[in-house]
Amino acid sequence: MARRYSRATSWRTGNTLSTNARQLLILLILVYSGILSPFTAEAGLYTASDQIVILTPENADTVLFNSTAAMVVEFYASWCGHCIGFSPVYKSLARDIKEWKPAVDLAAVDCAEEESRKVCTNFGITGYPTLKFFHAYATSDSKGQSFRGFPRDVKGLRQNILEKMENHQEPWPPACPPLEPASKAEVDSFFESNSVQHLALIFEAASSFVGREVTLDLLQYDNIAVRRVLSTEEELVSRLGVTVFPSCFLYYPGGNHTRLTVQNEARTFYSYALQRLPGVVRAGKPRPVTSDLLGNTTDEQWRVFNRSRVYMADLESTLHFSLRMELASHPIISGDALSALRRYVSVLAKHFPGRPLVKNLLSAVDSWLQAQSQSEISYSDLRDVLDNTAEVPDAALPEGQSWVGCQGSKPHLRRYPCGLWTLFHVLTVQAKSSASTDPLEVLQAMRGYIHSFFGCRECATHFEAMAQDSLAQVDSASTAVLWLWSRHNHVNNRLAGAGSEDPHFPKIQWPSPDVCPACHGVKRGGEHAWKSTEVLSFLLSYFSSERLLPDHLEEESQLLAQQEEQREKRRQEHEVRRGAERRAREASFTQPQEEEEEEEEDPADEEAGEGGGTLEPPPWVKPEAEEEAAVAVERARPSRQRGAHSRPSVVGMKLREPQEDIVDLDSFVNQHYKAKALRAAAVSAHVKRRSLQRREESVLGVGLEAGPDLPWAESVDLGAGQHKRLQKRGLTSQYGGSEEEGVVAVQLYPQDPRGRWMNVLSVGFSGLDISLCVILYFLSSMCLLGMFLFFKMRPRFRRVKVAQP
Ligand code: FAD
Repeated sequence: MARRYSRATSWRTGNTLSTNARQLLILLILVYSGILSPFTAEAGLYTASDQIVILTPENADTVLFNSTAAMVVEFYASWCGHCIGFSPVYKSLARDIKEWKPAVDLAAVDCAEEESRKVCTNFGITGYPTLKFFHAYATSDSKGQSFRGFPRDVKGLRQNILEKMENHQEPWPPACPPLEPASKAEVDSFFESNSVQHLALIFEAASSFVGREVTLDLLQYDNIAVRRVLSTEEELVSRLGVTVFPSCFLYYPGGNHTRLTVQNEARTFYSYALQRLPGVVRAGKPRPVTSDLLGNTTDEQWRVFNRSRVYMADLESTLHFSLRMELASHPIISGDALSALRRYVSVLAKHFPGRPLVKNLLSAVDSWLQAQSQSEISYSDLRDVLDNTAEVPDAALPEGQSWVGCQGSKPHLRRYPCGLWTLFHVLTVQAKSSASTDPLEVLQAMRGYIHSFFGCRECATHFEAMAQDSLAQVDSASTAVLWLWSRHNHVNNRLAGAGSEDPHFPKIQWPSPDVCPACHGVKRGGEHAWKSTEVLSFLLSYFSSERLLPDHLEEESQLLAQQEEQREKRRQEHEVRRGAERRAREASFTQPQEEEEEEEEDPADEEAGEGGGTLEPPPWVKPEAEEEAAVAVERARPSRQRGAHSRPSVVGMKLREPQEDIVDLDSFVNQHYKAKALRAAAVSAHVKRRSLQRREESVLGVGLEAGPDLPWAESVDLGAGQHKRLQKRGLTSQYGGSEEEGVVAVQLYPQDPRGRWMNVLSVGFSGLDISLCVILYFLSSMCLLGMFLFFKMRPRFRRVKVAQP
């Protein structure tokens, strides 16, 4: 026993690590690095949230044999009613003895699982549930010790485990401190072989388990050792003047001692008080130093705050982060996520106890969301509403994060998740005080939000498991408040000592006895008990709107001014973008001359341009599409400026030459309306290129006749190629822009004298008509000449005929 004592003590005091301790460390590293993840499977009655190692044929040997910690295993069948009934107790036990893990851990295996059956058969399991104890360093032939007729409550099970631990055979689990009672001699010589700052002595009756429980509760803490001393150890009892059993004394070198003051002489109160003694720190965690907070460890200056109050700045920062940052990673929100968002915002609009400014904004967002009838919304539209671009009077959501009660000692600690918990606690309390008719309103909104949007996906999975497990039990606004409080404590329990725990804000079962003494009590057997009525009234007060502190909030007038500034900035950006788009559109109608020549040489090329080009976005196009268009325009502009080799984006179409050079005024009216129709169609991205080509011919034809006075004429922007082509046909504009600009304004009168003559002479006649006339004229002349010659020669033929006979 003495050997065991000294070994455990030396491990805890940081002397040379024994082989066992090294193995323990390796196991812990493996567990934490996920190689031997305790959550390797999620089937049956337990999940990853339950802090119970789920055994499979793959991990069973590694977990049970040669382990540095003792293991308690439940063999169960998921179909078995007793097992189902026992599982909540086993889960509670896991939470209760979570701090004991390095010495003794819990596991479970579902023997109803086809693949796990082998594990159960190997250990000779025939009935369910069966509990077995595997001591540390068990060998592969070990079948474990059965807990015969084990109790079905946490306290009984915990005490059964303690007995097994105390009678643990050698080798002793290295992380486990000695559990047997300390003698006077051992206490007197304690500081000779140990360098801890505090020695806590728990004086108790032999039958009491408190001393052993507290000893294991503190095993993961440095700078403290706990020993039980029996009431029969008279010399020590009288030296310290102990009269109450159990009671706890802090013992120091030289025999100095002081009684630990606690609300109740019970395990939970001792453990909580000892874990908070000066210098006591969770193993592996840095000791919290106040200068860490006041110094420059975070980006911002540390704000001194009252730890027992809730700050509106945290709630507003949470809203900003949730609505402007977290949601922003969902560009399109649809389906269940959209329903979840609607519920979330609706609950915020209804219950958020904010300033009128913020409440107005939340109402505006809620109304907007409820008015959206489509099956999806885009985040950018929602963002406009959040930023109040519609200029709803006296409405604003502060931008940026300004954490106060949720500050972390490091930039990556606390903040948003802390704010989110706080927000939902406040909302459940608000719903309760507003006598909301649906007790699940806030919790379902929270569940939906966490499930669909909370960035920590593993957290969301755990939370969903908790909700599935027990949300159905909530049947009133009060139970909703208590449900969230108790689930938050489950999470605190699971995360205590984890990497995300801020050493300055250890994860405890909240509220602690010093924050709410009335919330804590003890059952008859000395077991800790939450007093739910007191807890509820504490929560209703702690998270009430009246107690929210407004410190560190920005002035409302300042917020409105900032919002206006943002809006102005956005307006200017919009103007710049629209200007760029307009310029790009204008330029995009200018086709490079060289390209046109190429096209004329190679008509087969025509097909290649199909579908290309840029159109003015139609009015229903969303702003982000506009932005994309603007980006495309911006990209296109330099290439256009660079030269003629890049293909300009003229709706992906090429203008065909008119078949005839003559302007047909009869068709003018017809063409004019055709051109109007084309212009309307040109804003649609779905217009087929071929129809566009045909219409473009019309545009050209009409353009040639329309003249500069027609309102739409100036917008017909032809490329240099067309210009040249028109020149060839003698139709270059006398009104149009310069060739350098590449803009050919349409003209009414062709310049070519021949053309003008033709035009004046042959209004309504085509070139073909005139040619045919000429030919006809020529043919009829020929005909007349032939007739004339015929009749002139005829008498001569007759005379010859008469003379012949
Ligand atoms: P928090 O736990 O965030 O608590 C914030 C404040 O609420 C505390 O300062 C305290 O004043 C008060 N409070 C504490 N406990 C209670 C209680 N029981 N009832 C009412 N008020 C209380 N992190 C993980 O690593 N893994 C997870 O699975 C995980 N799941 C999460 C699930 C949800 C829904 C949320 C919102 C967060 C989750 N987190 C998880 C984050 C984690 O719970 C903490 O929020 C985070 O580590 C910051 O801790 P904190 O010290 O600021 O205290």
